[in-house]
Amino acid sequence: MARLFVSDLHLDASAPEATEQFLEFLGTHAAQAEALYVLGDLFEAWVGDDDRSAEAERICAGLRRLTDGGVPCFFLHGNRDFLLGRRFCARTGGRLLPDPVVAELDGVRTLITHGDALCVDDLPYQELRSIVRTSDWQRRFLALPLEVREMLASAARAGSREHTSRTVPYVMDVNPRAVEEAFRAARVRCIIHGHTHRPGIHEFTLDGVPVRRIVLGAWYEQGSYLVYEKGAYELRELPR
Ligand code: MN
Repeated sequence: MARLFVSDLHLDASAPEATEQFLEFLGTHAAQAEALYVLGDLFEAWVGDDDRSAEAERICAGLRRLTDGGVPCFFLHGNRDFLLGRRFCARTGGRLLPDPVVAELDGVRTLITHGDALCVDDLPYQELRSIVRTSDWQRRFLALPLEVREMLASAARAGSREHTSRTVPYVMDVNPRAVEEAFRAARVRCIIHGHTHRPGIHEFTLDGVPVRRIVLGAWYEQGSYLVYEKGAYELRELPR
């Protein structure tokens, strides 16, 4: 059976087609899988597990049907939904993994990560990341009323859009040295990540051995997922 990987769905009430497509994906492709890995940015924004919007409820219910059906579901934090927590896991039956993490896929050590930590050339972003990922910042943020958190998140998204529109493309991609260091530090030959919205399978040689970096696609215009089965990887698109 196949393991499936998705990331960067950026699900949001303002784009219901993506949510419908993901729910359909959960009920069909994912329901037949051995496991589903969500490598971050499932949501366009997640300001706390107390989000009980109709949108969040439907997505959580879809994930719950999947895990109740016997398909394990693993989540990594993305830069948009790093506040997914224990109560989200309780609602969905899924499990949060640390980022990065080495998974054993049919005995092959594979590094899985959202990917934003590899984009080290984007200094303003990395500085912001180091602040909002502290438990102190998160405790203070989560203590604010839900409406205030939603307001702050929407202001942050506007700031992010402005930042990305002003930043040259290579800065928004992974840094090749950071990628090499990640391969060496984890002692793996395969890395799977999302975040950059540049789907592709990159094969090259590092320290004399063949390695592979697989980048997952975003769900803005269509669905996108990675299938791993019998040692082979394939990126697939879901037309919308
Ligand atoms: Mn991201």
